[in-house]
Amino acid sequence: MNCLFCGIVNGSVPSYKIYEDDTVFCFLDINPDSNGHMLIIPKKHYKDLNDIDLNTLNHIIEISKKMKKLLEEKLYIDGLTLIQNNGDVQEVKHFHLHLKPFYNNPKDLMKIEEIYNILTK
Ligand code: 5GP
Ligand code: ZN
Repeated sequence: MNCLFCGIVNGSVPSYKIYEDDTVFCFLDINPDSNGHMLIIPKKHYKDLNDIDLNTLNHIIEISKKMKKLLEEKLYIDGLTLIQNNGDVQEVKHFHLHLKPFYNNPKDLMKIEEIYNILTK
């Protein structure tokens, strides 16, 4: 199976990694809606919400709490929207949770390297 996000997990596709553990991988979205837009994915390939098991889903939510704190501390976000697409609105068929920051006074989109440096240094 040729899956883009499995490629990100195994390193064959480069990404800006923000967090990783045994179960999940978190990286910056290549086409962000706002500064700090990131995706949390299970390392194991699950297609969508029907496919994924509750333990893994729970862990993804746990890590979203951690990433929310990071975004608050490093990027001073004013809000955060979590989105998980399925079916015809899901472009990449490997389960992923979007974390989309909201800013009261949005700045222009910064370079992804710059966001990566702020979140990881
Ligand atoms: P969805 O499947 O929920 O519609 O969204 C897929 C998301 O993956 C999009 O926001 C898109 O920008 C992101 N994406 C697609 N290809 C890549 C990639 O190669 N690297 C990264 N970091 N993100 C990607
Ligand atoms: Zn996959």
